[in-house]
Amino acid sequence: MKFSTEAISKMAEIMVSAMQQNGLEGEGVCAVEMGMREFLREVGVQALGRYLEQKDEEIQEDEKMCVCGEAMNYLFQRKGTILSIFGRVSYRRRYHVCEECHAGVSSLDRHMRIEAGQVTAGLAELLALAGVEISFEEGTRWLERYLLFRVSDNTLRKETERFGELQKDQEAEWIKNSQNEKWLQQRQRELGKQPGRLYGSLDGGHLHLRAVQVWRPWSASGASSRTSPGIEWSRSALTTPALAGGARENGGGTPSE
Ligand SMILES: [Zn+2]
Repeated sequence: MKFSTEAISKMAEIMVSAMQQNGLEGEGVCAVEMGMREFLREVGVQALGRYLEQKDEEIQEDEKMCVCGEAMNYLFQRKGTILSIFGRVSYRRRYHVCEECHAGVSSLDRHMRIEAGQVTAGLAELLALAGVEISFEEGTRWLERYLLFRVSDNTLRKETERFGELQKDQEAEWIKNSQNEKWLQQRQRELGKQPGRLYGSLDGGHLHLRAVQVWRPWSASGASSRTSPGIEWSRSALTTPALAGGARENGGGTPSE
C-alpha cells in the first residue's frame, strides 16, 4: 500500500498540533507516543465509518430479489455497527426489506463482507491469534494494551472458536484432496508464487562479541554462564542478517516452503 507524501505530511502536522493542544510537549516520549496512537485509533474509527458510507453511495443497486422469491423494496437508511481494529464503528447504509417475509439486506455489507453487530475480518484474525496462545481472560487484558480498547472475553472466545472451525474445515479439504493429483499440482503452483519464509532457532548461532571483535558460538541455554568477564554481548547482533546467516550455517534453522 502506498500513500502520498503530502497526505502523510499533513496528517503528521495535525497530530503534532493535537499533542501540543493536549499539553503533552512537556511529557516524556511515552505519553506522546501513546497520545498519537489513541489519536490514530479515533481517526480510524471515523475514517472507516465515512469510507463505508461513501462506498454505499457508489454501489449500483439492481432490483433485489429475496430468497423467498419476492422483490425487495428499498425502505430506509439503516445504521449498522461493527467492531473493527480501531474499535466500534457506526455507519449508515441503504437497506432493503422483503414485504413478504420481512428479511432485510444491505448491498454494502454484502459487498464489503461485513455483518452488522459482528467483528471485522481484520480484528477477528488478531483476536484468534491471541485466543489460541493465551487464556481468554489474560488475552483480553493483553489485547487492550495493543488495541487501546477492551474486547469482551465472550467475543475473544467466539472468534477463536470460529477460527478453529475454519481451520478444521480447511484441513478436511486438504485431506479430501490429498489424492487428487490435479488439485495438488494447482496448489503447488500457487504456493510456488508465494515469497519464501525462513524459520530458525536461536539455540545454535553466532553472536558478535564487541570486546574481541570475533564471532563465537552461542547457546540460548548457557550463554551467560559462558560469557567471559568484560565481554559485552552485542544486542544489535540479534537483529542483523549476520545472525540469520550464522543460524543457517549452524543447521539450527529449519527452512520451509
Ligand atoms: Zn422474502
